[in-house]
Amino acid sequence: MKHPLAAALAIALTGTVMAVPTTHATPQEANVPAQNPPSTADRNQDNPLFVQSPLPLQFPQFDKLKDEHFAPAFDAGMAENLREIDAIVNQRSMPTFENTIIALENSGKLLSNARRIFANLNGTDTNDARKDINNAYSPKFAAHRDAIVLNPRLFQRIEAVYNQRNDIGLDAEGIRLVERYHDSFVRSGAKLSDADKARLKEINARSAELGTQFSNNVLDEVNDSAVIVDTAAELDGMSDAQIATAAAAAKSRGLDGKYAITLLNTTGQPPLPQLNNRSVRQRVHEASVARGSRGNQWDNTGIVAEVLKLRVERAKLLGYDSSAAFVLADETAGSVQAVNDMLGRLAPAAVANARKEGAVLQAMIDREQAAKGEPTFQLEPWDWAYYTEKVRKAEYDFDDNEMKPYFEMRNVLENGVFHAATELYGITFKERHDLPKYHADTWIYDVFDKDGSQLSIFIFDPYARPSKRGGAWMNSYVGQSELEGTLPVVANHQNIPKPPEGEPTLLTWDEVTTMFHEFGHALHGLFSDVKYPYFFMNVPRDFVEFPSQVNEMWADWPSVLANYAKHYQTGEPLPQALLDKKMASSLFNEGFRTTEYLSASMIDQYLHQLPADKLPAAGEVMATEAAALKAAGMDYAAVPPRYRTPYFSHIMGGYAAAYYAYIWSEVLDANTVQWIEANGGLKRENGDRLRETLLSKGGAKDAKQLFVDFTGSEPAIEPLLKKRGLDAAPQ
Ligand SMILES: [Zn+2]
Repeated sequence: MKHPLAAALAIALTGTVMAVPTTHATPQEANVPAQNPPSTADRNQDNPLFVQSPLPLQFPQFDKLKDEHFAPAFDAGMAENLREIDAIVNQRSMPTFENTIIALENSGKLLSNARRIFANLNGTDTNDARKDINNAYSPKFAAHRDAIVLNPRLFQRIEAVYNQRNDIGLDAEGIRLVERYHDSFVRSGAKLSDADKARLKEINARSAELGTQFSNNVLDEVNDSAVIVDTAAELDGMSDAQIATAAAAAKSRGLDGKYAITLLNTTGQPPLPQLNNRSVRQRVHEASVARGSRGNQWDNTGIVAEVLKLRVERAKLLGYDSSAAFVLADETAGSVQAVNDMLGRLAPAAVANARKEGAVLQAMIDREQAAKGEPTFQLEPWDWAYYTEKVRKAEYDFDDNEMKPYFEMRNVLENGVFHAATELYGITFKERHDLPKYHADTWIYDVFDKDGSQLSIFIFDPYARPSKRGGAWMNSYVGQSELEGTLPVVANHQNIPKPPEGEPTLLTWDEVTTMFHEFGHALHGLFSDVKYPYFFMNVPRDFVEFPSQVNEMWADWPSVLANYAKHYQTGEPLPQALLDKKMASSLFNEGFRTTEYLSASMIDQYLHQLPADKLPAAGEVMATEAAALKAAGMDYAAVPPRYRTPYFSHIMGGYAAAYYAYIWSEVLDANTVQWIEANGGLKRENGDRLRETLLSKGGAKDAKQLFVDFTGSEPAIEPLLKKRGLDAAPQ
């Protein structure tokens, strides 16, 4: 994963887990397979990473691969890559597209292939050896990257090609490739003086160090900040199994006979809807929001203050007023103004809706207290989930378990997800059993194009296991490019509990929609039709979730649903009334979910838009967070932000100034769904258009233009407001 945070800490805005596919933007990480064995090959003849896989589509030789193969491949790969860069800069010929840009595209194959396979396996099936390799090589890879992007002679050649890019007979994709290389080197500091480059390296190194400290603090404190209660009676409302878990958690802390409620990383905590004891709810909530700012050894406010300062310094070195301006210049949004405009339009509607929901909850509190003959109280953050659950039961009478018998996993995949893709795109699927697997619980399919030719190989890896990280995501083992003559090998991952041997795997509705979502990422990969490896699925962060969100629309499309939602024993179709109840209940609480997400997005933008002289000191971070919420009109105390700054890991990692990306993608998604619905829905013409204009293009064209090419217009915010039930919110 190039964005491990994105996937590991993926937010679940709509109940489905989002993930980010691998790919990304640095030239030496271009997605190319190993081809020619380097000179060390004779010493590594048993190492499958040193040769191009002879399997179909260069499918990895998982059966021959051992953990001890990675380090030699990484070392040899970095050395080979540096030799290739030397060869590019030392040649006497004048810089040309071929001898510089294409040479870069052809470099680093051994390294990028080994890294890609390693990252995928470390995410889906890790072990101690793989964790150690990851820790040891992360800093080495960072330094390797700096050695390339800050190489002045390499940049001179890139700039020379860049300056003549429109006059040397390149097509649009070639021109864009030159521009992307040039811009990514510039954004990495290639144009700076030697002194500034040295300072930038220091900033990068210190930022990486602080980022690691921040994550370690978050992890350690979340483990330490469990709420301890003395009696099982205080946990009234939790199930027997949950109470037993709390007892075991206390025991493991040396607190025999007591109960420990452990926390998750978000502000909201899972037991809050269940706990009948209001003061225990309050303790859980207060323990959650205090994390990272308690003045103990895990206090992150000092780290936040220093990181913000370093980021502004880096932005200024690179010619931007703020770190948000630097980040957003390279996103679909394009500017601070565009992001502020969108968030500013969503916020009032979301808060108004949350306040409306809050009024319903307050009314229930008042009624209940009156019935008990006790004084009422004001709705607080620790009451929200608890009374929401009561309203849901009272008004919707819905139980997720009733739907599960209609969603048998293989049936959902083959007669739902694949069926929709066949209807839309004419592609077909056939399971194969001859290829090696990295884990027995994976299914491998050939994907055939509409003319019957091979398009891709797809790996489906559905089950949770201790060696697999949480969430759901897509990745690729082989990228597609015309230059390399490669076709994609892509995979989808989920964390579905594996039933006992002989039992069917029955899914929740969320797991079903997640399956459609992840396959939307897979389609983005397997339809890729780009000339250069650099462009394979290489799109901005605020665009990447867009194709996957669009594909979710087919999960409950009537003809698709009718094809797969059948009782696993009787074959009877899913009753419409059941689906209607589910849909009705899922819209309730949308005001809360949008508000807590937007509040966190607003904090992220506010902190990263501050100029150098307005940055908070460590002791001012929490007050600055409060000011950010107030300035945005998001200071509705009953709905706190989804993450508070000292445990907001996204913004210390890859989502700094970019947490808005999820909802930006959703704006594009909502517009696209509206367009498809208005133009006949599930039909080949629409699928072909989506494939032709958007899914096949990867990063070979400007992302915003891809959207416009498909829908024929600029994105509007109204479809999203409608989708989230925010359009009718009272002011
Ligand atoms: Zn996703």
